[in-house]
Amino acid sequence: MNHPMPPAPFRLRQFDGPLTSDLVQRPGAFGLGNLPDRLAPDATTSMICGFCSTGCSLQVHLRDGRAVNLSPDPNYPVNLGQACPKGWEALTPLAAPDRATTPLLRNPNSGELEPVDWDQALQVFTLRFKAILDQHGPGAMAWIGTGQIPSEELAFLGALAKFGMGFAHGDGNTRQCMATAATAYKQSFGFDAPPFTYADFEESDALVFIGSNLCVAHPILWQRVLRNRRQPEIIVIDPRKTETAMAATQHLAISPKSDLVLLYGTARALIQRGAVKREFIEAHTTGFAGFEDFVRPFTEERVCAATGLSRAAFDRFIDTVATRERVSFWWTMGVNQGHESTRTAQAIINLALMTGNIGRPGTGANSITGQCNAMGSRLFSNTTNLLGGHDFLNPDHRATIARTLRLPVARIPDTNSLAYDQILQGIDDGVIKGLWIVATNTAHSWIGREGLEKRLAKLDFLVVQDMYASTDTARLAHLVLPAAGWGEKEGTFINSERRFGVLKKVARAPGLALADFQIFRLIAHYWGCASLFNEWTSPQAVFQIMKRCSAGQPCDITGIRDFRHLEECGGIQWPWPSAQPVPAAPGDPTAPAATSAGNPAQERRLFEDGRFCHPDGRARFLYDEPRPLPEPVSAEFPLTLLTGRGSSSQWHTLTRTDKSAVLRRLGPTQLHVEIHPEDARALGIQNGERVTVSTRRASVTAAAVVTSTVQPGQLFMPMHFLETNRLTLEVVDPHSRQPSYKACAARLTADGTPRG
Ligand code: SF4
Repeated sequence: MNHPMPPAPFRLRQFDGPLTSDLVQRPGAFGLGNLPDRLAPDATTSMICGFCSTGCSLQVHLRDGRAVNLSPDPNYPVNLGQACPKGWEALTPLAAPDRATTPLLRNPNSGELEPVDWDQALQVFTLRFKAILDQHGPGAMAWIGTGQIPSEELAFLGALAKFGMGFAHGDGNTRQCMATAATAYKQSFGFDAPPFTYADFEESDALVFIGSNLCVAHPILWQRVLRNRRQPEIIVIDPRKTETAMAATQHLAISPKSDLVLLYGTARALIQRGAVKREFIEAHTTGFAGFEDFVRPFTEERVCAATGLSRAAFDRFIDTVATRERVSFWWTMGVNQGHESTRTAQAIINLALMTGNIGRPGTGANSITGQCNAMGSRLFSNTTNLLGGHDFLNPDHRATIARTLRLPVARIPDTNSLAYDQILQGIDDGVIKGLWIVATNTAHSWIGREGLEKRLAKLDFLVVQDMYASTDTARLAHLVLPAAGWGEKEGTFINSERRFGVLKKVARAPGLALADFQIFRLIAHYWGCASLFNEWTSPQAVFQIMKRCSAGQPCDITGIRDFRHLEECGGIQWPWPSAQPVPAAPGDPTAPAATSAGNPAQERRLFEDGRFCHPDGRARFLYDEPRPLPEPVSAEFPLTLLTGRGSSSQWHTLTRTDKSAVLRRLGPTQLHVEIHPEDARALGIQNGERVTVSTRRASVTAAAVVTSTVQPGQLFMPMHFLETNRLTLEVVDPHSRQPSYKACAARLTADGTPRG
């Protein structure tokens, strides 16, 4: 593949800071390269896991200054001494042989990536992006971030790129998983505010999981459900008979993406039964009268026809929601990754509001996030929000952040960035010329990825900053910047229940790899904007800046002292404004039980006073007419292809989990497709046989798994394999611009080649 190359030879330029090329070649020279500064060589220390958003605490055991093992933290209020397989194997990916250990620059003659030193890498980085800026303006430059790096690094990246370097556009891979929840909450509540705390799993009388396979995607949270002593109804709404559905008391196996009709029909049925809390609605919401009118046509007949549910199943569900005192609604990607996902999430929120199931123990309209720091990305990455949940379009907010950061307000953009899909479209259209991808694997994970290599090849300059030079995306880059991983740097993550927890440095990054934070500092110097970031000297220092940015916001954390304070308290959920009393430490005998609602430091939920974040304090009822599937089945493509998480030992694009022999043994190692026995019989397909799965985009081969976990007419493929996203349809929700990974039309043909 040919890429436009940076100009040669590279000229040294003047930096505005004290760095020299010698300094940037010595990882320890910038104060962040040496082993755990604050830890004894044989210490055991606790830190938050770097995979999923559950936010488990892991105890890492050091010997002679090296992290040699880990175990789940028994005292942390999230995981209570448990970890899933990924957590147990969290150290293994750090030692992988394909770690990026030096910057790599593509040689214009050979077309190969070749090692260079940091000085040359950063000169190329600066020269190429500045050339694009000079020639095409800020709108030609974009970055794609992540929910996998600490909040302090996300804040630095966003501030550096937008305020320092003049990038107009930046988005995160959280667009692929959490944009819908963030948009839905913002519109309905007035702020991106998941209201729950994990104790709600234990305190519900009925838990309704919509598009969530909690057993597999968030296994430790499923353990919290199993601790519930209230004999709860567990209801799963999902086309597939997932592991969670098998364990449920009710499984509503609906037709793919008929959830919005079901939820509107549920609202109508509850209204008809009089099972709504009129007093709460009157006092704390707006728009219910219109909603009541809107749902009138969503009759039981319409619901059953659209969803395929029996009347008995629907009635039982309604009866449960109507009669249980504490009902909690939980959703994940089955909702977020749909073509009308924002309105679906809001239909869930509407149910919680109209039944008064919010702000009380065991209730809530609760989105469970995906990545370890998805919430950090949502609040502090400077992509969809101005830092601290502020709004780029609001002049008061821009003035506040400018004052807080001691920046000229003119440096803060007064428009929003393009979203991820729009950035990629901008590359196609020749508008985006330079792209900086940090800690994500676009070429693997983006929906309908077929042809993505050609898209990225249109860029004048593609930089990938990652732990591994071997990712599908890094292999396409002009320049690879080697980054430290989880456990090799410090910072904070924010989990699904809004809990800040601490990440620590327990290992050295290999070779010349540097913490992302360190890389951003160097870039600021090379770019010539370091003076704007004099205060951004360490993750701890940036945490103090984040606190100031959060002041007065619903996510106010001005009462959290520092990282040590977070450790002492077993993490702290936002908000924690400065007026709050000092939280009790876990294990404190004078503190109330850690997992009940009694200890405000350990477990807190939002909206207990019924006051939401809109200026009038009221939540909104929001709704729209359901829309048909963007790609319905046809004679040529008669099956519906569903995608989802494959196993609890696999993480996203397998970049890290595939490095562990243990995790590889615990999950499927090759692509498979689940097919119902009736369809298999009709197509003459045997279990284990190799088959071809085709959509309008591509055809891939996979092993057939004949199983009744899928319904007739449906296929399921795990999302972790590169081939799966060659098949998916690139459609986004119009409000959140989150891709709709979950359903497209497909065809299956037998290859006649038995597997193995
Ligand atoms: Fe880590 Fe999530 Fe597993 Fe907990 S459940 S150990 S946070 S991957």
